[in-house]
Amino acid sequence: MESTMKDLRGGATVLDMDPKSTVGGGVEDVYGEDCATEDQLVTPWTVSVASGYSLLRDPRHNKGLAFTEKERDAHYLRGLLPPVVATQQLQEKKLMHSIRKYQLPIQKYMAMMELEERNERLFYKLLIDNVEELLPIVYTPTVGEACQKYGSIFKRPQGLYISLKEKGKILDVLKNWPERSIQVIVVTDGERILGLGDLGCQGMGIPVGKLALYTALGGVRPSACLPITIDVGTNNEKLLKDEFYIGLRQRRATGQEYAELLHEFMTAVKQNYGEKVLIQFEDFANHNAFELLAKYGTTHLVFNDDIQGTASVVLAGVIAALKLLGGSLADHTFLFLGAGEAGTGIAELIALEMSKRSNAPVEETRKKIWLVDSKGLIVSSRKDSLQHFKQPWAHEHEPVNNLLDAVKAIKPTVLIGSSGVGRTFTKEVVEAMASLNEKPLILALSNPTSQSECTAEEAYTWTKGKAIFASGSPFDPVEYEGKVYVSGQANNAYIFPGFGLGLVISGAIRVHDDMLLAASEALAGQVSEENYANGLTYPPFSNIRKISAHIAANVAAKAYELGLATRLPRPENLVKYAESCMYSPVYRSYR
Ligand code: NAD
Repeated sequence: MESTMKDLRGGATVLDMDPKSTVGGGVEDVYGEDCATEDQLVTPWTVSVASGYSLLRDPRHNKGLAFTEKERDAHYLRGLLPPVVATQQLQEKKLMHSIRKYQLPIQKYMAMMELEERNERLFYKLLIDNVEELLPIVYTPTVGEACQKYGSIFKRPQGLYISLKEKGKILDVLKNWPERSIQVIVVTDGERILGLGDLGCQGMGIPVGKLALYTALGGVRPSACLPITIDVGTNNEKLLKDEFYIGLRQRRATGQEYAELLHEFMTAVKQNYGEKVLIQFEDFANHNAFELLAKYGTTHLVFNDDIQGTASVVLAGVIAALKLLGGSLADHTFLFLGAGEAGTGIAELIALEMSKRSNAPVEETRKKIWLVDSKGLIVSSRKDSLQHFKQPWAHEHEPVNNLLDAVKAIKPTVLIGSSGVGRTFTKEVVEAMASLNEKPLILALSNPTSQSECTAEEAYTWTKGKAIFASGSPFDPVEYEGKVYVSGQANNAYIFPGFGLGLVISGAIRVHDDMLLAASEALAGQVSEENYANGLTYPPFSNIRKISAHIAANVAAKAYELGLATRLPRPENLVKYAESCMYSPVYRSYR
């Protein structure tokens, strides 16, 4: 070991030499370097074996007290650790104990982030084994507060920051990232962070949190994940005036300036990582979100969780609910409150699935789906003034300007809330749904809880227990007339980790809508008879790794079927293959 370290250090000395000393061929190439590279600038990278103190400071390899006696001898750790040797299970127990003692979720979040910086495998072990408890800490809602306080709570930078200052140099910035083999990038421009609006550069918490879920829930290796924040300024006055703000202190660049930076970014990513790297757009404002997805969908492997992930998870809930509601998908009529990224994305995927199942053109199946926005029912007379993504939903109907009248006029069997405005499914609206349907399906998707269109309790009591209900934010079980009702949570985390894994294991080069349908069908297929008996339309989250493997397998199968997969030959059993590819947080033994 010692000789290896010396050799490597020797190698570093060579590379550290001033490259100019060999330029011009005047200096003899004593180190045997390729003469053809003499006049090129090179990246001074080194490979080293971590041991001793540096091993303890390397989060990817550190095991803390879990280093065995043999490892302590072999890796120069004697004396650097107290005598006890702990198991990973004991470390997990101790950490969960201390995390549970914190009163505030943000303190728990910080403890988790510190753990990630210290001991990556232990971080993922905790997250995987305690997923239901820690998901709201590492991701929404706590991550929102973390983004708001990002400048003050972080001591070490996470992820990669690309700002307008890096224009013209984005490829070089990507090369600064220490990992070469990247499979998934989550990128935000911070303009619409959860329901919190423009948080500028502080949006970094979102890509970091999403990628932690990619690893914990979908099994993508942490080293293959790259969080990126693109900083084009912020329109958040409070941040602009905050002396501790970490981002560019200017108003957001828009139009051509914005488009050029994004284009350089997209080009550099493909140049640096190739065709198979997944770029997930996250929390972009809706005009940019739709445009980026449309613009790069044909040239890059791109996915927008707010639009496509939400659509897939909601469609899964609707497919599963058919078992309880009866009838085929095309027998149902859908009414949405809210026609933004979530609403129109879900509507389109439902129309596509309906079209596939009934062999009717999608232009026809769209007519079973109606949307209400802040100006009322979307109808043909409004077409000219509608944003382009709302136009396919402008069906023939007289104007209707409120939700209750729209329910009465359209007579939907399914009511979906995606408006971001709380308490909009009023008692009258919910009662109208119950009077029209034996079992109304009501989905109140807006987050956080305060923005939910109605609560689980309201849905069950106002429909006298008839409703099948699911929501974006979780609700506790509700007792109504002696019966306990458990509602489902349409959480995107059901879909995107497995979806991404499916793309990665098949080496897919493009996302196709049929892959989203495949993901929805796989998720719906994981709802058991027992879950149905309890009125649930989503499987328990505790099985998420198994669920992700099934989603990944279905998505990969579709990629092979569509000729979009490059990892050949196709593995025979894709579920087994997906499981075998998943990252395990269990410590490895060191020679
Ligand atoms: P968005 O801004 O793109 O769309 C909101 C839409 O609601 C717009 O069409 C707007 O016109 C409409 N609207 C606003 N106020 C209204 C009102 N009073 N009546 C009728 N329509 C109104 O936002 P989005 O990304 O589509 O998100 C909407 C909501 O959905 C958010 O609360 C978000 O948290 C939630 N969401 C939930 C999930 C999930 O449950 N898995 C996923 C994504 C988004």
